[in-house]
Amino acid sequence: MKQCDFAQSLDAFVRNGIFKTAVWREKLDAIGTQEGSRLLKDSGVDAVSLCAGGFLTSRDPANFQSSLDDNRRWIEQAAAIGAASLVVITGGLDEGDRDLAGARKRALEGFSQLIPEARAAGIRLALEPLHPMVCGFRSVLSSLREANDWLDQLESDSAMAREVLGIALDSYALWWEADLEAQIERAGQRIINFHVSDWLPDTCDLRLDRGMPGDGGIDNLRIRQWIEAQGYNGPVEVEIFSERNWWLRDPNEVLKVIKERCATAI
Ligand code: ZN
Repeated sequence: MKQCDFAQSLDAFVRNGIFKTAVWREKLDAIGTQEGSRLLKDSGVDAVSLCAGGFLTSRDPANFQSSLDDNRRWIEQAAAIGAASLVVITGGLDEGDRDLAGARKRALEGFSQLIPEARAAGIRLALEPLHPMVCGFRSVLSSLREANDWLDQLESDSAMAREVLGIALDSYALWWEADLEAQIERAGQRIINFHVSDWLPDTCDLRLDRGMPGDGGIDNLRIRQWIEAQGYNGPVEVEIFSERNWWLRDPNEVLKVIKERCATAI
């Protein structure tokens, strides 16, 4: 995130034999979608998903509409780079808002409105629940149980929902969930993206202090086995927001450690 621009990250991947990546929207915007697509094609690295869209909780109707328009653009952007999904998070609460149920309702409504555009573009929307500690500012969807409930509802409202909507399961966000295995079974083939990192026992940031798999308390291997038992055969996306550690290191070293941990801890 900090060491490389878009082109440098692709070079580092290729040097280390990695040919799939999630694309972070800000990195792509810095060079433009067209140039990003060209670089991906030239490098032979496939875009798995575009991260992150959503942010559909605003109680201001004009802001809500403009977020929907943003998402329509991001769906097109995801299609342009050949990604299969746009990972979407709900967003948190507007300043001064204490109506959590209302924010959840707006996010659900927003996702339902994006289904036709996503389907037309051939892009799946991967709803990503995040850890409850970021409920206030990043995601009012905090568990796999709720994500399953939301998809049950959206699927009952729209015939297209089943083919368009899915779930991005991030082990960092959900490892604490008491009935995670049962909820993974319930999700079944809804799981279309799988993110891993580790929970450091002395974590010191709400978002940006994730650990390398194997360095904390998450049993990533077990979670991977649970989702693969449901038929998941997509990539494992190692997603480590780490402002004080991994983002400061040499990219080749980071990728080398990731590859080692893929073999031992995921
Ligand atoms: Zn994630």
